[in-house]
Amino acid sequence: MDNGDTQEPRERGQAPETGITPGGSNGAFRDVLARDHARRGKPPLHFADMTKDLRIDKAKELGLPRFRISQLAHHYYGHFDVDSDDFTDIPSELRHGIRQVFFPELITEVTRQVADEGTTIKTLWRLFDGSRIESVLMRYETRTTLCISSQVGCGMGCPFCATGQLGLTRNMSAGEIVEQVRVAAAAMQAGQVAGGPGRLSNVVFMGMGEPMGNYGSVLRSIRQISALPPDGFGISARNITVSTVGVVPGIRKLATEGIPVRLAVSLHAPSDELRDELVPMNRRFNTTQVLDAAHDYYRASKRRVSIEYALMRGINDQAEHAALLARRLNHYGDNWAHVNPIPLNPIEGSRWTASDPRDEQRFLDILHQAGITATLRDTRGQDIDGACGQLAAKQQ
Ligand code: SAH
Ligand code: SF4
Repeated sequence: MDNGDTQEPRERGQAPETGITPGGSNGAFRDVLARDHARRGKPPLHFADMTKDLRIDKAKELGLPRFRISQLAHHYYGHFDVDSDDFTDIPSELRHGIRQVFFPELITEVTRQVADEGTTIKTLWRLFDGSRIESVLMRYETRTTLCISSQVGCGMGCPFCATGQLGLTRNMSAGEIVEQVRVAAAAMQAGQVAGGPGRLSNVVFMGMGEPMGNYGSVLRSIRQISALPPDGFGISARNITVSTVGVVPGIRKLATEGIPVRLAVSLHAPSDELRDELVPMNRRFNTTQVLDAAHDYYRASKRRVSIEYALMRGINDQAEHAALLARRLNHYGDNWAHVNPIPLNPIEGSRWTASDPRDEQRFLDILHQAGITATLRDTRGQDIDGACGQLAAKQQ
């Protein structure tokens, strides 16, 4: 399943422009897993990509006995450190080569944009093959959240989304995903973010890409983000959110992993008629299938599911839409979902614009009256080209 590069579309030639092959449930999940379209080769292997056995083999090549691997893990996961020259618990003659073999630089900063008095930082990263991805760090009073990317571009084709316009270049490796977290955690620890030294507390997969399209690497990265040092960074799985366009088999598989991550489902419309237009993936997995899977995830995880809903003026933000959304959610019972409406951040040349604030308020009121919790999602970083979830690297 990794990188999906051995997968071929089952019905070549019939794929619609979204890249989603039509019909059928057999192999449906496989079809949405990204293929390495550009076949640019694989990113260098990193400590975060390696199995235990591979770490042992690589250590041997460097003349390091295996107990040294747990020291490396402490440096990496416990202290966010990859500079092996500083690893004073390892004899200096053995330090040489560690960085190159275990910690190759997978993400290199190209530019960064800062907003909200230094508490929002959006970074554009270059990957080994020249690909560009972005992450956004948002510091609040009581928590600091990093929004990360899981794919270079996205193949799901949502017409209102900047990443969707790029199409899919390739999946990111677990190392590339984990490195976004490591660098942000290190910056927080070193006091490089306004507000002084602190801790990265939350991670959301709401940057570029569809996490369920890169399931294997995303799951491996979640394990490493959540495990306690020296196996991971120790960011509680409860503080990790995986956002999906609604890839039902991915939601169902995630529910079986026994990791209490929060699930966010990007619904954006209460009916199939409307969602078919806004979210092409709906033609594959419709609103009933998506909501069934989301509710089953809630039952399996006991974690409330977030329903993401970008409010588009006159399209999906009217009273009737809010009422239908409330009805459809209440159909499954109380208190299992939390709706996050967010004013659309319009992309260039888009035919959709953000809702009128009065319509936003009415939308919220109708949900509240129906007993559904809903909070307008924070629109941090709007002055730097949108924050999380509206990312597109401009300097391709
Ligand atoms: N592919 C996943 C995760 C990345 S997108 C998904 O679709 O859920 C993260 C969130 O940003 C999604 O809810 C997505 O619908 C939303 N989003 C994308 N473009 C947006 C825009 N222009 N304005 C507001 N939200 C947007
Ligand atoms: Fe992909 Fe999510 Fe954007 Fe849709 S909203 S194109 S699934 S990143």
